[in-house]
Amino acid sequence: MDERTTALVETLLQGIRSGSRAQMARAITLVESTAPRHREAARELLTELATNPNSGVTNPNSGVTNPNSAIRVGISGVPGVGKSTFIEALGSQLTAAGHKVGVLAVDPSSVRTGGSVLGDKTRMSQLSADPNAFIRPSPSAGTLGGVARATTQSMAVLEAAGYDVVLVETVGVGQSEVTVAGMVDTFLFLTLARTGDQLQGIKKGILELADVIAVNKADGDREMEARGAARELAGALRLVRGHGEWAPPVVTCSGLTGTRVDEVWDQVQLHREHLGVEGLARKRAEQQLEFTWALVRDELAQRLRHSKAVRAVQDEVRTAVLAGDLTAPLAADRLLAAYDTE
Ligand code: GDP
Repeated sequence: MDERTTALVETLLQGIRSGSRAQMARAITLVESTAPRHREAARELLTELATNPNSGVTNPNSGVTNPNSAIRVGISGVPGVGKSTFIEALGSQLTAAGHKVGVLAVDPSSVRTGGSVLGDKTRMSQLSADPNAFIRPSPSAGTLGGVARATTQSMAVLEAAGYDVVLVETVGVGQSEVTVAGMVDTFLFLTLARTGDQLQGIKKGILELADVIAVNKADGDREMEARGAARELAGALRLVRGHGEWAPPVVTCSGLTGTRVDEVWDQVQLHREHLGVEGLARKRAEQQLEFTWALVRDELAQRLRHSKAVRAVQDEVRTAVLAGDLTAPLAADRLLAAYDTE
């Protein structure tokens, strides 16, 4: 590491530990970066944070997670279900109760298009003006694996800066939810009382990831409907889950009015209690192992993309496959053989 990098890491460490928002934002930008020089600095920064007993992150040497580490909660649901409104209400209630709340986002649309629909500051105006909250939009580049890496590491930065609750928001589509479920303690699924919506959720397997379910927008005329949907969902879930397992509670709330948002939080706490100290430590350890392999896959994908030897043959392979002259398995062998020569 050169002197400039060492100095940068030192500045960021001091800033993070003293709670400087500007340095924390800089550190998060650093861990989101895919530039090799930044990645080296990020690794150094995260190692330093992890070995600091007050950092709250898992110590790689002892495997012990500091009990002061943040409560990590994933929040998911289809666009329009009311995630940002809910997070605004929950986040504000939590900061009012003395917590420091970080909000991160994993947005699969940003992966594809470079645009972001989540974590948009303008959607959480109250919370983004709150000195005890820190909202970070989804990193807008790279693969889902890359975004997950950035988010996990941003979480470590927030925890080191004393944030004791981290909410990770994601859109209710596909792989991003599995990814987020793999980095949080409790996965909260927001849904609506619309007919058929809840059963669709079960089909997609999302409800199997959920630890707590909230039927949102239970206000005004929709309240009764929401309660009915919650009952129906709770019944359906009993069929999905086995005996003795945590049965995800289904509650109703309104992010807009803030009604029963505290009850949703109570359920999150109950889920943590159900896990217990050991269960939580085990869950996090397993997540670390899974994350390790995700990092390896991400790095390999990166190397594959940048491989000169692969580039040298890929046009030829592409042409041959499109013309039907080369089968996919043989084409894959050719590309891998080229990669292996590097
Ligand atoms: P997101 O896409 O899941 O983040 O959803 P938003 O929080 O942006 O909300 C989508 C729309 O639903 C907005 O027009 C909100 O005002 C509205 N909305 C959000 N939460 C509630 C709620 O609890 N009750 C009602 N009635 N409307 C809500």
